[in-house]
Amino acid sequence: MRFPLIGEPVAVDLANTIVRERGVDIDLLSDRAGIDEWLELHSGQLPSGPVDGEALLELRGALRELLEDVDAGRPVSAAAAAEINRAAVAAPVPQLRAGDGAALLSWERGGTEATLAAIAQNMLQVLAAGSRLRTCENHDCLLHFVAYDSRRRFCATARCSNRARQARHRGRQAAS
Ligand SMILES: [Zn+2]
Repeated sequence: MRFPLIGEPVAVDLANTIVRERGVDIDLLSDRAGIDEWLELHSGQLPSGPVDGEALLELRGALRELLEDVDAGRPVSAAAAAEINRAAVAAPVPQLRAGDGAALLSWERGGTEATLAAIAQNMLQVLAAGSRLRTCENHDCLLHFVAYDSRRRFCATARCSNRARQARHRGRQAAS
């Protein structure tokens, strides 16, 4: 399975790089090629330059913990909060680029610290906006998403949104 890019903010996308298929959890960033591919896919949203894989995975761990805590309605773990806060302080300020082809943004600097900071800041912005963060209710899926619609219970991958449709259909039949 390739990256389930389902239109989530970049920090949620990073958390969503461990996927569950038929009960088996698969880490899509288990090797350097996966990490580089993920960074390339998000190159329009993140600073450029080489990124330390281990540091990226550490931040991912904290983001996943945070998202699980938020979804479960638990207080956020101190370790996860410390990790995300530590990463976020180094955030370089993105600049809007005028008249320069497809790239909309540029950053004053790149590399590991800047990239991790941009991701951590993205998570803080999502929280600051009061967005509802949920975990897909398909138990064979681990994906997190921002539920702009409060009724939304499933992620936007084809298999889970089909499930949501089937559940609605069953609900209608049971009601009639
Ligand atoms: Zn799902």
